[in-house]
Amino acid sequence: MAIIRVALDVPVNRLFDYLAPGAGTDDIGRCVRVPFGNHNHSDSRKISGVILDIGEISSIPEEKLKYAGQIDRETLPLPRSLLQLFEFCSRYYHYPIGQAVMNGLPASLRQSNHIARRKPAVSPDWKLTEAGKAIPLSAIPSRAKAKHQLFSLLHEHGIMTAEACKTLPPHSRKLLQEFRDRGWVEQYLAQPDKPVFSTAPAPVPTEEQAHAISAILGSTGTFSPWLLNGVTGSGKTEIYLQAATSLLAQQKQVLILVPEINLTPQLEAVFRKRFPGTTLVSLHSGLNDSERWHGWQQAQQGKAGIILGTRLAIFTPIPELGLIIVDEEHDYSFKQQDGLRYSARDLAIYRARQAGIPIILGSATPSLESYHQALTGRYRLLRLHSRAISRATLPAIRCIDLRITSTQEGLSEPVLEALRRNLSKKQQSLVFINRRGYAPVLLCKSCRWIATCKRCSSRLVVHLRERQLRCHYCGDQQPVSPACPQCGDPDILPFGHGTQRVEAALVSHFPEAHILRVDRDSIRHKDAWQKVLERIHRGEADILVGTQLLAKGHDFPNLTLVCVLNADASLYSTDFRAEEHLFAQLMQVAGRAGRANIPGTVLIQTEFPQHALYQALQRQDYTMYAQAQLKERKSAGFPPFVYLAVLRAEAPVLTDALEFLQQLAAVAALSEDYAHIRLYDPVPAPMQRLKGLERAQLLIQARSRRHLQLFLSDWHQRIAALPVRRKIRWHLDVDPLTV
Ligand code: ADP
Ligand code: ZN
Ligand code: ZN
Repeated sequence: MAIIRVALDVPVNRLFDYLAPGAGTDDIGRCVRVPFGNHNHSDSRKISGVILDIGEISSIPEEKLKYAGQIDRETLPLPRSLLQLFEFCSRYYHYPIGQAVMNGLPASLRQSNHIARRKPAVSPDWKLTEAGKAIPLSAIPSRAKAKHQLFSLLHEHGIMTAEACKTLPPHSRKLLQEFRDRGWVEQYLAQPDKPVFSTAPAPVPTEEQAHAISAILGSTGTFSPWLLNGVTGSGKTEIYLQAATSLLAQQKQVLILVPEINLTPQLEAVFRKRFPGTTLVSLHSGLNDSERWHGWQQAQQGKAGIILGTRLAIFTPIPELGLIIVDEEHDYSFKQQDGLRYSARDLAIYRARQAGIPIILGSATPSLESYHQALTGRYRLLRLHSRAISRATLPAIRCIDLRITSTQEGLSEPVLEALRRNLSKKQQSLVFINRRGYAPVLLCKSCRWIATCKRCSSRLVVHLRERQLRCHYCGDQQPVSPACPQCGDPDILPFGHGTQRVEAALVSHFPEAHILRVDRDSIRHKDAWQKVLERIHRGEADILVGTQLLAKGHDFPNLTLVCVLNADASLYSTDFRAEEHLFAQLMQVAGRAGRANIPGTVLIQTEFPQHALYQALQRQDYTMYAQAQLKERKSAGFPPFVYLAVLRAEAPVLTDALEFLQQLAAVAALSEDYAHIRLYDPVPAPMQRLKGLERAQLLIQARSRRHLQLFLSDWHQRIAALPVRRKIRWHLDVDPLTV
């Protein structure tokens, strides 16, 4: 009897065997309901899973196996390539296979009670198999009337459409399933929908663009990773569009990943405009279950030519995938920070290799990992040096030396002067400060008391308008107390600057100007972001005060001045990626200035104008900066020259978490591959206390990915065999962004 192996959403890294009479290999990738739970109870509940394999023997004695419930044959099975992707995720990120599968599926597929309720968008048709055709009608006795009739219908037409099936008595549908179990008939999609193709007029590509487009298109049909490094405004999007045009014309599908949900509407509009007749599905966490399910199906059926989405879109079945684009590939949002900690960018590379297709990683400031791959020849580098619109020049970037220039409420005189000038010219300005709230610290001048969060090792941020202190890590809030809780002095002051405070200062300097603050607090409500963008585009804001939300990818034609207030904090951070991140962020925010006809200006307030980062930024020289950074990373032994994983543990008491990690480190020493890795001592995490739990971590480093992986597999198994420690939660993060 057939035994199906099912991926279930449970935290154990294995598949579960069930008896499934009548199941066949075409059921692999289908959802199934199976009983799960207490083995001694007949009433164990049923949950949904996905069939990953089918066989005839099980390591579990047959009498102990349970029968699987209903297999969902109404919807298309997940394609093998997607199942392989899930298996890769499970292996590479050391995450239970069932949870890896279930993590990627739309809730409508995933939820246990949904199968019965879910309406299929299309039902597959039935057709006779070769085996079925070989069975003579006479083999079915005519006294089995219904069976005989159905079989002769099939013989006459060769197929039975889903529509026709609906008119048959229910009994006949059972018979069809019986025929299928005998291998006489199978289900198929009559005409997989092909993406419709039409295109609107496109601009003539610049020379640099044309070169990039023809290089990429020359690699159609083979795995070729392209790193597209182009300054902001150089027309990377146009390259995506023209490369997509060619593949869509060949009836291929194109997958585009963007880092943030806020960026999807804009890129979506650009693609819809260029390809008016092509079905585009947009997949991101803002969709409800049925919207996502609908988009997923259109992708799987081949109806959607363009699949555009945030990181989770990497798990979409796309049968005719011809090109993958990862826009702003350096962005941290591509890495999932909980559960299955995958990097959608890295998985995109996996998918491109699997499908044998080109992939474009686009960025003005590629991640050092990707840039290193390009330098070593594994990726191919395409560069765009100038802006696409001939009159648009790169902005002039200037540092304002805070050692010799004083500030008032965080604003220096040159910044105020530039804002004043821009106002009089009726051009838009952006004041960038990557800190929301009024002030990052509340300080008592007498005793140096600082308001801190009780649940996290963080300082509470002053939100003056709401008269609250808020923790930006756990969300806790409390009213601002009238006096110092430690010494009673009423003279407690907000210290440092956040968006609200800068906004207030600007209002007092420029009472006649329209000032618009854009940060997570101001766009909390649904659709607020869209409204803000519209206001900016209608020219209703003279000065924008904003965080990195505004820095990414937006095109504000009338914006000509960008002022960066306090970026220095990241320069001497303990996080080895902080600088790389800051450089990318400042290049992005600087790129907002002067994108149309008017040249832009960028002013950066800093106490370290000589710092290599600002020097490279002033020249907008990514290459210079990246090469210097790579040199540093190499000598310090950081990625991309080594490979990292981090095991994090949290417990109510720090020593418990540290002891637990010590125990894991001892277990690690037993591994054969131990010699190839370096295990650091367990230490408290950079953010030691979060939401009331103490956190510690253990860093693992290796010279090669292979050694890291060999070690992790072995170690992970040894850890799983240890007795469970209640009160300690832990996870493994492979290729972590922060350590
Ligand atoms: P990037 O994504 O590299 O920052 P964009 O793709 O947004 O740059 O392009 C910047 C601007 O240049 C856009 O307004 C775009 O319409 C325009 N543009 C791009 N390529 C061309 C071209 N070949 N001819 C004319 N305008 C172009
Ligand atoms: Zn005090
Ligand atoms: Zn907190």
